[in-house]
Amino acid sequence: MTFVILVVIGISIAVIGCVYFLTFRHFREPLRQARATAAALEKRLLQQELLAALTQSFISSDDTGVLIRNALMMLVMSMKVIRASLARLNSETNTIAFEYEWSDPKQQLDPLPRIGARFIAGDIFYDTFITRGDVYLASNNPEEDPRIAETLGSPGVKACIFAPITVYGQFWGVMGIEQHTGGRDWKESDSQMLKLAASAITSLLIRAEAEEALVKAKELAELSNQAKTNFLSRMSHEMRTPMNAVIGMTTIAQNSHDMEKMTYCLGKINEASLHLLGVINDILDMSKIEAGKFDLSSAEFDFGRMLKRVTDMIEFKVNEKHQDFIIRMDPLIPARVIADEQRLAQVLTNLLSNAVKFTPEEGNIILSVRMAGSKDNLCTIRFDVIDSGIGISEDQISRLFTPFEQADGSIARRFGGTGLGLAISKNIVELMGGKIWIESESGKGSNFTIEISLERGKAPAGDKLRLINRENLSQTGKAEEVPAEDTLENIFADKSILLAEDVEINREIVLSLLEETAITIDCAENGLEALKLFSENPGKYQLILMDIHMPEMDGYGATRSIRALGGEGATVPIIAMTANVFKEDVERCLAAGMNEHLGKPLDFEELIKRLRKYLLGVPEVS
Ligand code: ADP
Repeated sequence: MTFVILVVIGISIAVIGCVYFLTFRHFREPLRQARATAAALEKRLLQQELLAALTQSFISSDDTGVLIRNALMMLVMSMKVIRASLARLNSETNTIAFEYEWSDPKQQLDPLPRIGARFIAGDIFYDTFITRGDVYLASNNPEEDPRIAETLGSPGVKACIFAPITVYGQFWGVMGIEQHTGGRDWKESDSQMLKLAASAITSLLIRAEAEEALVKAKELAELSNQAKTNFLSRMSHEMRTPMNAVIGMTTIAQNSHDMEKMTYCLGKINEASLHLLGVINDILDMSKIEAGKFDLSSAEFDFGRMLKRVTDMIEFKVNEKHQDFIIRMDPLIPARVIADEQRLAQVLTNLLSNAVKFTPEEGNIILSVRMAGSKDNLCTIRFDVIDSGIGISEDQISRLFTPFEQADGSIARRFGGTGLGLAISKNIVELMGGKIWIESESGKGSNFTIEISLERGKAPAGDKLRLINRENLSQTGKAEEVPAEDTLENIFADKSILLAEDVEINREIVLSLLEETAITIDCAENGLEALKLFSENPGKYQLILMDIHMPEMDGYGATRSIRALGGEGATVPIIAMTANVFKEDVERCLAAGMNEHLGKPLDFEELIKRLRKYLLGVPEVS
């Protein structure tokens, strides 16, 4: 019996063993696969959960920075790492720097460096992301690649993955996760996960960039609005002050019967008008510069004479403030040079009048003009305008050549000025191929320096200028003075000119200015009338003064028609007289057939110079 029982048990065990063996043999592999699939599904679920959580969190009006950090936090938690970060490429400096990070607070990690690491061909990140378009993966501490800690600047990283982020087809930067304790055997699914998270976060980055651009644009708009307001209020002050003087002094003169007082008022009106003209010219120059339409012309001129004109202009103020003004000129400077005389004079006048303005009474001003070098036909001239005035502090110096900037607001209130002069001067000097700089210290005076290379002139000098001081500089002008017997009353006595000008007050000004010359002047109120008067009596006029903007027919049309008449019409000197004073305006006048251009407001001296040239054949001395 016992034997039977034992045999049955033995057979049962054998059958169970066989069944188990057979079952295990047949189903072991599918089981293993099923488990792997379940694990993969679980991972995918996790990924999907993370991505869903990420994208869900993006649909929020929270601050984008907060949303990005939340996304990094989710990444840390779901990937079971201790830090996630975003580093952005700065394509101007070719560096990559961490901009956002989230790390497990329990780990108390040092924040990632915000200083950009190099991002150029040959570097580890560049090669991985740009050259190979890959993720960067380090599985088992930095020994695997010692450059990683160096590149990340994050000591203690044992394992990491960094995936590239592309925004609008451009490499934006990288998203990374780090492990600091022990290595980590990353799976393919981990880098897949990071790639997905990196592409999911792109929309947030675009939003962050758009917000950043918006903030910048707003700040810029506010700044430019502020600058505009400041500029308008400064300009309003700069223009109203002389206007106030003109109107006030005119009223005083009108109500006065005292000749001396009237002359005084007229002097002040003249001064204020010239100042106003200077402000207007500065504004026009600056707007030309900003529109990129500021051009220079080039002609040969007498260097000493130009310098004299400049120094004459500030002489009055220098005397008024009892300042000591010394001019030192290198005897090697050529007497004649080729450049834009008017613009060079404008720069020097600006520097000298600033020196006078910002130097107290009895202070010193030096204008030094030296040869800094000479090569072939070019000579480099160095101008130094040195004053013992209020000086400029170091931080203010950097802003001086920026338009509308003045050293400080209180200076603007004390001394006035538009803050445009130095910006214009710098532009002119640079257009001439030169440079301008300043050395100054607050309270210790200033030294403005210009260095420009000018071409030597060919014609012989009118005057020889040598080492000069103020006294002998003023003598250089003598050649221009009209000899005593050649007074304006008799030299033009038999001359006759035609004046084409539509504005009555402008006609009146020319007639009054030329009254003492005894020139016969016929007036036309527009171009058509000028053409008619001239063609009726072509031999009568030895010169035509031609306004440009006129009704019926403008100055260009009238000039072309007069030239087309032939005979006297082809040769009669025609001088444009217009408030359009830019280089292209002058060129347009010449192209229409005019001989010269005179700017408005009219400079009496200039007008007489032209009349002497065309009516008497006196050569012009420049
Ligand atoms: P403006 O004199 O019309 O205001 P500028 O551009 O010529 O404009 O000068 C800008 C500013 O530079 C001045 O307002 C003044 O603050 C400073 N500055 C210029 N020249 C001097 C100088 N020689 N000494 C002291 N400050 C100066």
